Amino acid sequence: MKCVLLPGNKDVVLAERPTPEPGPGEVLVRTRASAICRSDMSIYYGNPLVGAARSGSELVIPGHEPAGEVAAVGDGVTAVRPGDRVAVYLAFGCGYCEYCLSGERVLCPRRQIMGFDVDGGDAEYVLVRQEYCLPLPDGLSYEAGAVMTDMIGTQFRAQQRLGVSGAHSVAIFGLGPMGGAGVMVARARGARVIAVDVLEPRLRLAAELGADATVDSSREDSVARLLELTGGEGVDVAIDCSGNPAAQNAALDAARRRGAVAFVGESRSTTFNPSDQLLRKVLTLIGAWYFPLWQWPAIARFVVERRVPVDKLVTHRFPLEQAAEAFRLFDQRVTEKAVFVWG
Ligand SMILES: [Zn+2]
Ligand SMILES: [Zn+2]
Repeated sequence: MKCVLLPGNKDVVLAERPTPEPGPGEVLVRTRASAICRSDMSIYYGNPLVGAARSGSELVIPGHEPAGEVAAVGDGVTAVRPGDRVAVYLAFGCGYCEYCLSGERVLCPRRQIMGFDVDGGDAEYVLVRQEYCLPLPDGLSYEAGAVMTDMIGTQFRAQQRLGVSGAHSVAIFGLGPMGGAGVMVARARGARVIAVDVLEPRLRLAAELGADATVDSSREDSVARLLELTGGEGVDVAIDCSGNPAAQNAALDAARRRGAVAFVGESRSTTFNPSDQLLRKVLTLIGAWYFPLWQWPAIARFVVERRVPVDKLVTHRFPLEQAAEAFRLFDQRVTEKAVFVWG
């Protein structure tokens, strides 16, 4: 099968690998859509955020946001059948620890992340255990399925933990695909949504995705503007999707007293003042990453019933053969979600 490899020097290599055979409990998924994620850029640049993708002798196939059609199943597989449409959960856990048993397999101390530790979806086929096949509702495209895991799933989980509802104002910082998903999820949950970014096209897209107001933080002080938009109080909830220290600080400053902030954007270090920004406001600050397995049916229902236009996050589609261009344009932030598709 054809696959993409990222040696870590901004090279993108098209390679041929043997098509895997499903063993007991395993499912071979024929990939139909596989989305590029900002976290893939850490492999592209040779500095993976998680996993040990480059420690072995053979490079791991990237791609942790695939969706496709079940092509073959191994012995003992009862959850899916050939022809079923599925998205794929990205963390493969031990199955027995307290985190795995709670469904939050990203927290398993022995978890392996698809596309970082084990082969992922930027290939014609991907091999997964049956419990990681997430049924894709009829009427939702494979592309939607691909962006519904990491993007929509992470936002759904974070906003559910913070109780985001129609009673709340929510500021989303950083309108890449994760921020775009944040706008759509907050909107569908009924909140008043204010989108903050430095790039005009991303603010326009945020408005299309349902943001009630947009703030261009390259032109104005985002905190001052958010206070102005909320009668001087600040927003109930601020979600940073950029991982940028200035935006993380602005999120803390723009949240009202007793408000809540979620850090969703990947970042390696930041500086803030806990006494003034956190303690004196009795603020809740959460870290958010992905969602537990049990939440998938609720996420899928939410997207269908609230007609969340997840396809709108996908601005570019590429065949695998154009992977080099896809990664380059994504890296340059020319695209929102860029997805590999098979005709
Ligand atoms: Zn991702
Ligand atoms: Zn575990």
